[in-house]
Amino acid sequence: MAGRHIELGQVDDELAGHNARLLAHALRVAQEGNRLIAAAADRGVPCSEADVATLRVLLFNATYIRDIGRTLGGMLRCSAAWGRLPQPLLLPPPAFTLANGRQLWVGATNIVDSRIVGDMVAYRDLIVFTAPDAFDGFPEPGSGIDAKLLTRDGAHVYRLFGRANDLDLDLAREASADQGFAPERRAWACAPEGGPDVCVVSRLRSDAWFQFPARVLSVAGALALAFLAGLCVLWRLHAGSAKTELRKAILGGDIQVHYQPLRQLATRRLAGFEALARWRARGQDVSPSLFVPLAEAMGLGRALSRRVTSQALRDLHQRLRDNPELYISINVSAADLKDAGYRNFLMDAVNEHGLTPANVALEITEGTPLSDGHVLSMVKTLRGKGFKVFIDDFGTGHSNLNYLAELQADAIKLDRSFTGAIGAEDAGTLIVDHVINISRELGISLIIEGIETEEQASYLLARQPAAVGQGWLFGRPVPLSEIVAD
Ligand code: C2E
Ligand code: MG
Ligand code: MG
Repeated sequence: MAGRHIELGQVDDELAGHNARLLAHALRVAQEGNRLIAAAADRGVPCSEADVATLRVLLFNATYIRDIGRTLGGMLRCSAAWGRLPQPLLLPPPAFTLANGRQLWVGATNIVDSRIVGDMVAYRDLIVFTAPDAFDGFPEPGSGIDAKLLTRDGAHVYRLFGRANDLDLDLAREASADQGFAPERRAWACAPEGGPDVCVVSRLRSDAWFQFPARVLSVAGALALAFLAGLCVLWRLHAGSAKTELRKAILGGDIQVHYQPLRQLATRRLAGFEALARWRARGQDVSPSLFVPLAEAMGLGRALSRRVTSQALRDLHQRLRDNPELYISINVSAADLKDAGYRNFLMDAVNEHGLTPANVALEITEGTPLSDGHVLSMVKTLRGKGFKVFIDDFGTGHSNLNYLAELQADAIKLDRSFTGAIGAEDAGTLIVDHVINISRELGISLIIEGIETEEQASYLLARQPAAVGQGWLFGRPVPLSEIVAD
């Protein structure tokens, strides 16, 4: 009896693991769609040449989204893939509308080309098309698992996997409380409240689970690695205690700052350093891509920015004084720019260390609404005082070609995903070339992130010898003590 118990426990673990992976994947797909929609919102003249170019830049960086377009009056007018349509195309009626106003089409025939079938999500005048293969690999081949992705209230189905038609969320909720020795196992899971409205319910068919005690172990191993290392970290952070830890770390000075060199592409001479926040929680490094947004959501964004700013200036002031051409580049948010307190703090810190504003660059990170009049005027004020302003992660978020000219930033930092595509994909190199041309036309300096290979460096050098590069080829982010003298 005990042996059978353990086996059933393992089967349930496998099913829960599968649910977690599927849910995490669904969240990634949903988040990417939302990110693109947010990034493309309120951009100049809809479907103008510049607008379609922006949509293309956004799309290029997407993994699960195949196209993004604009609608007017229920008609598709243009998209990144198809450009401006000669004639607007009527959308079919949506399958359902979510509480957040998003309309969904499930397994719809593509309106431009009927050979393409996929899901679509529309919000305001934007529509994104999920790639038909966005969920390839689910359920894992041979796993005997059926699954269904659906809304929290169970009323709407996003996607079916295997023979999942009859799977019911409420029944699974009831059943999973006490499945006893039932040969057919069921499990369910939902995205954290406040996130996308998505749950998964799944079943392991009784004919499947008798065969695989060995496989269960390998799946459990993969689960521990892939899942724990990824989204689970974020979910664990959502637990109250981890928030407390993050608060303590930020307020108590436990956030470290590492420095990554930026170098002239042509000479490899040092141009500056980027300050990157580091947090080690319970013996594990937590990525700033996870804890920075969390800190901001907790209202600790400003405290974090001040910590990083003062630490970076304290650490590097001597180098900057010895070489006034160098700068330290700091990641800030729109909230920081608008905050007179932060601007004064920054100016005081610069003065206190005997530096000039030209020694400091502020990186406006992705997510900054560059169309915000207040942000624009603050950028102008800061530049007027002599600070440099860089547009970070160019091409991925709110970096809008239309506003670039108005913003008059000192440099754009081409996101590393584009650099990674050099040589590998024609479309990737096209985008890189496009951005190089834009920066040249607007007279904005170019910084290229994520240079990892000599091939990438020489490709870029041939096209824009004046560019500055950042990436593992030129140096990884390191603590102060490991910065090598140049
Ligand atoms: P970011 O500002 O775009 O920073 C560059 C990121 O690219 C860093 O990731 C860096 O470690 C990584 N990177 C640099 N060169 C390479 C390369 O050659 N290959 C690859 N694969 N990666 C490279 P990191 O440190 O994980 O930071 C992630 C993001 O977190 C940053 O992206 C930035 O947006 C944010 N962040 C970091 N520190 C702070 C901070 O103090 N304040 C704020 N507001 N955001 C921060
Ligand atoms: Mg940055
Ligand atoms: Mg960046």
